Amino acid sequence: MRYSAILIPTLKESPVEARVVSHQLMLRAGLIRQLSSGIYTWLPLGLRVLRRVEQIVRSEMDRAGAQEVLMPAVQPAELWQESGRWGHYGKELLRLTDRHERAFCFGPTHEEVITDLVRREIRSWRQLPVNFYQIQTKFRDEIRPRFGVMRGREFLMKDAYSFDMDEAGLEQSYQQMFQAYQRIFSRCGLRFRAVEADTGAIGGASSHEFHVLASSGEDTIASCTNCPYAANVEKATAALPAAPSENDEPMQPLTEVETPGQTSIDAVSQFLAVPAQRLIKSLVVVDEAGGSHLLLLRGNDELNEVKMRLLLGNGAILPGAEQVVQQTGLPVGSLGPLHTTLPVTADLALHGGRNMVCGANRKDYHWTGVNWDRDLVVAQFADLRTVVTGDSCPRCASGTLVLDRGIEVGHVFKLGLKYSQALDATVLDANGEAHHPIMGCYGIGVSRIVAAAIEQHHDDKGIIWPVSLAPFAVILVQINAKEEEATVIAQQLYQTLQQQGVEVLWDDRDERAGVKFKDADLLGIPLQVVIGGRSLKEGMVELRQRRIGEVLSIAPDQVAATVTRLLDQLGREESAL
Ligand code: ATP
Ligand code: MG
Repeated sequence: MRYSAILIPTLKESPVEARVVSHQLMLRAGLIRQLSSGIYTWLPLGLRVLRRVEQIVRSEMDRAGAQEVLMPAVQPAELWQESGRWGHYGKELLRLTDRHERAFCFGPTHEEVITDLVRREIRSWRQLPVNFYQIQTKFRDEIRPRFGVMRGREFLMKDAYSFDMDEAGLEQSYQQMFQAYQRIFSRCGLRFRAVEADTGAIGGASSHEFHVLASSGEDTIASCTNCPYAANVEKATAALPAAPSENDEPMQPLTEVETPGQTSIDAVSQFLAVPAQRLIKSLVVVDEAGGSHLLLLRGNDELNEVKMRLLLGNGAILPGAEQVVQQTGLPVGSLGPLHTTLPVTADLALHGGRNMVCGANRKDYHWTGVNWDRDLVVAQFADLRTVVTGDSCPRCASGTLVLDRGIEVGHVFKLGLKYSQALDATVLDANGEAHHPIMGCYGIGVSRIVAAAIEQHHDDKGIIWPVSLAPFAVILVQINAKEEEATVIAQQLYQTLQQQGVEVLWDDRDERAGVKFKDADLLGIPLQVVIGGRSLKEGMVELRQRRIGEVLSIAPDQVAATVTRLLDQLGREESAL
């Protein structure tokens, strides 16, 4: 492709709205343009990258035996009413009404549609297992679209759905997808990690997310320094800490002390000279039905809201201070579990604590010398805290947890019977008995991968594409578009490389050399062939590697062989990252 014949609107400056590097570079390199919040046009260069990701995903899904289909983006409300999600999905679901006043939605995901297809078309156990996938535009009316295509409202997803007769079959389908995902992300040249994930609202037995490690990631993942344990922090647990040495202290008498104006954990801890972990943090949580609960944690721990919702239901919220007062009549800042009428759940790490401090449910008062069993009995313990770096690993107990940021690019999920039961999809077994097939679902954020790859592969000059995703493998930078000798050589190289199946962008623009070099670096095409200047006078061209900056001076007739060798070598190195 000639540069002069393709729209690549590069920008010198980063647009102010772009806060993460991938968003900045996707705009600056002319890959995307925003149409509306979270809705983007893919320009020619961006689309070439997107198609490459798609092609890697497609080839590995095919290799794993999944069958490609394309389901409608617009789905009738009736199906979502059958599954029960019409009422539950909330505002992320874009709802539409047609001219006959029939309700539809723009699909954010396709469990209902695929289950409907299977209940109509698949009758016998002989037809299982099956796994159907599609690569398709989804719409989710995200509350906070941001970071460009990383969290868009309209985005491209690969979604796959497996159907098996039994658990063992599901396990096999799940493992096949797990392995396909590992190959996909390796081939994309990404450094990634598979982590255990919360199964959340979809409901199901087990799930893993695939995260690309990057500081701009919206997720936090905890992994063990010693064993393979890794989990999204939403779900991560830690081994219980050993009982602190102060637990051997004699019990102090329970005493109500005045703590004027001291309402935060830090303030009370300082005022009473008691370390934060011996304070009991008491939080009021309101469940979906409007009932109040008291949750207790060590003062230095933070509540994990995903675990809170697992305990008290999806609609549970942490109300603001005003609502707490309204709802319970209790003074925020002096809340506590003694003599309360609220149902109490304590975090496991609090168990057995000695001589602790908690609010007295009276403004400006706290209890000191609070001891389990003697003063405080709670009906229920649960894992409520968010793990932190340095916690003991729950799996091997000899390693510790470290936290990293990750971008979720894929998700594999054992769905179970939820949709096949709700839509009553059945398959006959060998004895002619009807069974609900057991399902798995498997998503990949195809468009998000493009942004995630840039987060991992860039420098201060621009993008550095892995060979497998690059929009072109080689850019010919012709320094002077008017120089005849350079044009002849560029033309020749352009043809030879293309004949060898190498995709080439020929910068034939009548622009200053400086502009061309800057754009070539910004676009991130792996190999640059510079034609012109002093080298050309000596009959040579320069071959530069974008990633390592290495420059080779070679004769034009050596270019094709060298390019092929380097692309091969780079491709192998990158997929082994
Ligand atoms: P997230 O927690 O990031 O919202 P999710 O759990 O809602 O993701 P899934 O329903 O599992 O996502 O969707 C499958 C994949 O689609 C995700 O792993 C992610 O890569 C991608 N994805 C989800 N939401 C978006 C979005 N708003 N923009 C771009 N990609 C997305
Ligand atoms: Mg989401």
